[in-house]
Amino acid sequence: MVKQSHAFPSVPGLGLVPYLEGQTLPEFKEAEGPSSNVISEIEEIEEGSKFTFPYKDGTRTVQLQHILFRSHGIIGRGTIVVRVVCACTHCVSKHCDWSGKKLVLKLSFPSVTRVSEKAFMDRCKEQAKGEHAWVLNHLPHIYWTFDIPFHERRPQAYFKERFGDDYEMRLLRGSIQEELEPLLSLKTASECAQVFYDIVQCHHWVHTYPQILHRDISHGNIMVRVKDGKKYGVLNDWDLAMWLDERDGISISQFRTGTRPYMAHEQHSPDWEGPHRYRHDMEALFYVILLLATLFSNPSEKDDEHSKKRQPYTKWYTEGDEFLRVKKISIIFVASWQPTLTHFFRPFHGWLKRLHDTMNDGFHALHAHIVRQRDAPRQILQFDDDTLNGHFSYDRLVWIMHQFGEEKLETHGREWQGKLQELQQAEDENKK
Ligand SMILES: [Zn+2]
Repeated sequence: MVKQSHAFPSVPGLGLVPYLEGQTLPEFKEAEGPSSNVISEIEEIEEGSKFTFPYKDGTRTVQLQHILFRSHGIIGRGTIVVRVVCACTHCVSKHCDWSGKKLVLKLSFPSVTRVSEKAFMDRCKEQAKGEHAWVLNHLPHIYWTFDIPFHERRPQAYFKERFGDDYEMRLLRGSIQEELEPLLSLKTASECAQVFYDIVQCHHWVHTYPQILHRDISHGNIMVRVKDGKKYGVLNDWDLAMWLDERDGISISQFRTGTRPYMAHEQHSPDWEGPHRYRHDMEALFYVILLLATLFSNPSEKDDEHSKKRQPYTKWYTEGDEFLRVKKISIIFVASWQPTLTHFFRPFHGWLKRLHDTMNDGFHALHAHIVRQRDAPRQILQFDDDTLNGHFSYDRLVWIMHQFGEEKLETHGREWQGKLQELQQAEDENKK
């Protein structure tokens, strides 16, 4: 239920008022100012205005400050992220749970069946205890989430008209989250490297323990949290995530998700039937690093001169699936492929080349497997599709990325620290 914020009873003083069943929470009485409105369309969002949303048994109001992100594709991805401050009277005296926090309001229009980001993150929090607590530094902090069904404002028929065949029952979903820094806030190549390595470790943990698959690795979804002067890579935006055990029940059209320039090459093919595996996300991470290191003179600046020379990559942002599929195949399947990187990102050459080589080995192995299977259909041949038979696995990625040039990066959690020691010993023995 959505209520206007002026429905709050006036509260004398700032003292704690006992909460009664069904009563609007008086702690969040809105401060004096322009009246707020309930927004049910992204187009209605304006900086400076107020936004009221359902909160526990009442409502709560925030003031919109600055639009940080606005996507215009409305189907599935019509998302807006706005920096906000809590608009309650208690914030001034710091008695509010949101005072002093950097907050954003995120609004999107998922189908009614889509699990909320907060539900995924709550499951992560339950399991991120003890030796697993490190992962919380690498996940978004979602303080509140709410759903507003459309029928309260507009009939679903309106959306059917607008969405056509892609129509699904949709709702307005909002959340209040901690504001994070974008990738462009990073200053050095090794900071970038640590952030990407953090993303792999976080992705692995979430896939292994709460068993959630992110499915939308992109430049924009890799964020940075600054805590006590230290920077942490955060895997953000779990809007398209899924529980691993529900993967089999999902239709093919729902498998094809992601942000186009970064999607795994197989996903661009009309014949691809899924399922989405973790290696598809890791292939996407490879393209995130590749595009950044090819088109940017540093994390915050596009290198136009270099970009002109690297035409094929600038087109990745505008061209369609077939173009991208062909380009990506021409990278992965060519053993002699070499990236040409901007000066700032040249230290990434080693990573990109090695990540490329593991994919190259893996997809050649997959191809050989498919041919064998076709020519000897009675034989049961084993192939681990998740990791391309071990060629493109978390183990390989962590082994490649735990070190950046001569620098050892930070490996979180006992599990990988132990595994890296074993891998190091094995390598030392091979050298003997
Ligand atoms: Zn407040």
